[in-house]
Amino acid sequence: MKSQVNKSTCRICGSKFTRAGIGRHIKSCLDKHFQAMPKVKARQLYYLHIYASHNADYFLHILIKEKARLRDLDNFLRDIWVECCGHMSIFAYSGMYREISMQKKIHEIFKPGVILEYTYDFGEPTELTVKYVSKYAGRIKGNQKIMIVARNAQPIILCDECKRNPAEIICTQCQWEGEGWLCARCAEEHECGEEMYLPVVNSPRAGVCGYTGN
Ligand SMILES: [Zn+2]
Ligand SMILES: [Zn+2]
Ligand SMILES: [Zn+2]
Ligand SMILES: [Zn+2]
Repeated sequence: MKSQVNKSTCRICGSKFTRAGIGRHIKSCLDKHFQAMPKVKARQLYYLHIYASHNADYFLHILIKEKARLRDLDNFLRDIWVECCGHMSIFAYSGMYREISMQKKIHEIFKPGVILEYTYDFGEPTELTVKYVSKYAGRIKGNQKIMIVARNAQPIILCDECKRNPAEIICTQCQWEGEGWLCARCAEEHECGEEMYLPVVNSPRAGVCGYTGN
């Protein structure tokens, strides 16, 4: 599976960046637009960098309110990246396998150096890494608990058969052998049958279980 990564956009200022450059940019952009050294009473927003543990091309940079709970972050991750059929999910401190209660608030968990691991579905898991970067004072528009600052542009993955067109379909049968990403043309002639197909979507769970992105 060959892939090519498009530039992603910082939603605060609209500039475009590669994966390598975006972290540094967002930090300086947040420093400029939010207050890095908050006054005591200001609302705190936690800046978290979230990425697929096995493929950091899938990433999210978010601001989340200090009083939001891990349950809110779980719901957000389900909506944007992982929900297929209501599997279980947990957060744990990196390297420790003890589950953290979903009732915990963001400010009770995150401080410098804290990294969490998120697992959705224990049968065919999707594993994410949640890294605390820093915190800011400020507001999120529209009274949301979470603001997306940047999300990866969809990686372009070439068809495993013709190696030329971008894949649009994943054959879950062939995926067991590390193949099965197919362009629309090759999918038509492919032998496994449409009931094995899932769409290519912008999520680390593309091609897993029944994930369709809807
Ligand atoms: Zn920016
Ligand atoms: Zn499922
Ligand atoms: Zn093809
Ligand atoms: Zn197949």
